[in-house]
Amino acid sequence: MRRKMVAGNWKMNMTPSQAVKLAGDLMPLVDNEDVDVVFCVPAIDIVPVVNVVKGSNILIGAEDMYYEEKGAYTGEVSPEMLVDAGVKYVIIGHSERREYFKEDDTIINKKIHKALQYNIVPIVCCGESLEQRETGVTLDFIKKQISGAFKHISPEQAIKCVIAYEPIWAIGTGRVATSEQAQEVCKAIRDNIRNIYGPVVAEQIRILYGGSVNAANAAEIFAQDDIDGGLVGGASLKLEFAKIVNYDRM
Ligand code: PEP
Repeated sequence: MRRKMVAGNWKMNMTPSQAVKLAGDLMPLVDNEDVDVVFCVPAIDIVPVVNVVKGSNILIGAEDMYYEEKGAYTGEVSPEMLVDAGVKYVIIGHSERREYFKEDDTIINKKIHKALQYNIVPIVCCGESLEQRETGVTLDFIKKQISGAFKHISPEQAIKCVIAYEPIWAIGTGRVATSEQAQEVCKAIRDNIRNIYGPVVAEQIRILYGGSVNAANAAEIFAQDDIDGGLVGGASLKLEFAKIVNYDRM
């Protein structure tokens, strides 16, 4: 039985003082023993937010990291820095990083390898554009993204990863995929993982849906067979996030 997970992606929002306030406000509200709760926060907010949530079940994630260990990479954040700051998860390959920072499958694969080497759980993002959906190439495209991301990742490593299916046309648009559309792709991802790694990894790896998840639609989406929770952008910046975490108590 896979545990549900709800991860917030704060993106480039929240100054350190705003982050401390939001984390403190959410902390008493997001207590669901059946759900792993993760706040993925901007790098500058990691240390203060780790301090706020200390003693709770909330885990902290980064929104990105670099694949080198240290050195002359001005502006980048290393896996060792994240571990030392208390980070347990890292979002890798979000569509915004693929689009605005030109991250490709090779870079994403290197980041996944490095995160796993440091025992940080990568939340590996994939998802098609509207044009790809409308031209019927979604499943082929996602399959290519998954095999690129997981290149030379062993079954023992893959089982620790989380995959987030995030159709680009649903991110930040208010246009949520139907639960059938989300389930269809998440099932295809699990089938793909089964083909690569076999049934044990396929049954255990967690697959999240992301794209305009909110308090009103979370329960239906999370009830789908192959969906193990959500990666939440906009709604993770509000107290509404607690309702998404408590989707099964509403
Ligand atoms: C995201 O950016 O990961 C995301 C899912 O955003 P939103 O929930 O705002 O669509």
